[in-house]
Amino acid sequence: MSIDDVRAEVCDLHRHLTRWGLVTWTAGNVSARVPGKDLLVIKPSGVEYDSLTPESMVVCDLDGKLVEGEHSPSSDTASHAYVYRHMPEVNGVVHTHSPYATAWAALGEPIPCSITAMADEFGGDIPIGPFALIGSDDIGRGIVETLRGSRSPAVLMRQHGPFTIGPTAKAAVKAAVMCEDVARTLHLARQLGPVDRLPATAVDRLFDRYQNVYGQPLMEGQQ
Ligand SMILES: [Zn+2]
Repeated sequence: MSIDDVRAEVCDLHRHLTRWGLVTWTAGNVSARVPGKDLLVIKPSGVEYDSLTPESMVVCDLDGKLVEGEHSPSSDTASHAYVYRHMPEVNGVVHTHSPYATAWAALGEPIPCSITAMADEFGGDIPIGPFALIGSDDIGRGIVETLRGSRSPAVLMRQHGPFTIGPTAKAAVKAAVMCEDVARTLHLARQLGPVDRLPATAVDRLFDRYQNVYGQPLMEGQQ
């Protein structure tokens, strides 16, 4: 996969953020690691979603420094780069301020794993990460320390919003969409009364089945 292919993929994936109502104005960003290179591709800073093109995507090194691009990279690039440096299995990172997930982040409370869809995708609660200000490695470190060893591909950074990771950029986008969906559902459930977590054994069985058995068998060349 060439850098131009990654630019096209990252540009295309941004339309899911608007389609699923995860972003307002120019907030939010998707990035992908360039296979076989110490590079990432990320959304440019402050460009409106309708104006994004593959050519406007920005290439940075894994220290977050600009390598190629007409625009400056997203202001969250250093956080994405930290994740790629410290989690070699991660090839995609997404950040939004999607409203329901960010409401849980404002509360500082993990989203409790109370429905089967959540066990499938997240394998447990969606955890809260530390409060950290932009401008240093603190956000990236908080993401890595919270998600390393967790089955959840999503973390709610306290009083900020969700970051999601994945083995592909598309998987990280899916996790961002699902995170907002379960945040909304659990918010609604809370309005109706107390919510119980699923038993741990049920969570384990659901997670295992969804991750290993669910879906169509892959054809050769698919991923
Ligand atoms: Zn943010």
